[in-house]
Amino acid sequence: MNVMEESGLLVEKLEETLKHIKKLSMRTYLKFLPKIELHAHLNGSLNDKILKELGCEEDSIMQYKKLTQSIDKSDNTLQECFDVFKIAQNATKTQESVYLATKSVIEDFVRDGVVYLELRTTPRSEINMSKEEYIESVIRGIESLSGSKEKIFVKLILSIDRRHDKKTSEESLKIILKMREKYPNIIKGIDFSGNPNAGEFDAALFEEARKNGLKTSIHCAEIQNDDETKRILEFGPDRIGHATYLHPLYGGSQENWDLYCKKKIPVECCLTSNVVCGTSQSFPEHHIQEWINGSLPFSINTDDKGVFSTSLSREYQLVQRHFKLTGSNLWQISYDAIDYSFASAKEKEKMQYYLLQWLYLCHDMIYKKVDPNIDDDFCEGIADGFWNKLHMLEQQ
Ligand SMILES: [Zn+2]
Repeated sequence: MNVMEESGLLVEKLEETLKHIKKLSMRTYLKFLPKIELHAHLNGSLNDKILKELGCEEDSIMQYKKLTQSIDKSDNTLQECFDVFKIAQNATKTQESVYLATKSVIEDFVRDGVVYLELRTTPRSEINMSKEEYIESVIRGIESLSGSKEKIFVKLILSIDRRHDKKTSEESLKIILKMREKYPNIIKGIDFSGNPNAGEFDAALFEEARKNGLKTSIHCAEIQNDDETKRILEFGPDRIGHATYLHPLYGGSQENWDLYCKKKIPVECCLTSNVVCGTSQSFPEHHIQEWINGSLPFSINTDDKGVFSTSLSREYQLVQRHFKLTGSNLWQISYDAIDYSFASAKEKEKMQYYLLQWLYLCHDMIYKKVDPNIDDDFCEGIADGFWNKLHMLEQQ
């Protein structure tokens, strides 16, 4: 099927879907909007259903989601946030469970209207699974659902854990590079993540990764640490995650901010994650507004949609609501994120064309039905059904 046929199908399906609908919520519009997710950790993105299928007890599932119960008070600590990831790790200790978990996460993103996804995960070994086998299992999940015949492209970023010592990190990099040779179209980048209170950024290690053709996305300034933030900015990754304490109004140093403004590195913003973990005070006080006001490069992301009970359309809605953005502003944010992605030039072109087609053919059709007074979840199922149907048609 060529792109024009695809666009025709899109309009046809959309007309049919919207025929009897008079009004839509903003949230439903945002589910229809094709979106780009650049910052999603596999183990933090599992939904309740898959956790249950993988044998997780009800108590542990409650624990996995408990952080979001105190979102308004935001009295969680980063340590508590990192502790809950162990629950998902305990549920994915075999190759089959890693494969099923990966598939389930991708399916969730498809239902939410995500057309391009970069998943990230730290390779780990278990009693019956080596780090290579762990990576292979994730890739098997990705290969079963991603590609030009599907409605989503999925790429993989492999992470170096901040808690690991130099030797372990170097060994991890070796494995990552070896696996990348085997799967160059899927493994695209390397990340530095984990509890920001542990370890420190090793520029030489990431320089080695970069020399070998990996893109770099580094969690940066999640806590106040001007010294490390400076070293990360000087290294100049392709993207940085969070950047919470970078702007001087949010606890960063003027020196680092000046350096950032020179480099203009795209930031992966994750609103719910920051507010739930207490590193941002509230949604209206989130640092994303400095990027919006200053026309600096950023994307909107979920971080851990399972742990934080969120979705990418919900994150878009938070930005829309708290910073008064229009439908076309949100479309532009999604469109710009394509450029910041680690997709190939050809894939970027295809996605940009798809989003432009969507803007010309579908945007107005949906947006004119949006009524700001309607409940958030009203009609959300319509968009779910739309993406599911389109997905199935594409596979025929
Ligand atoms: Zn993250």
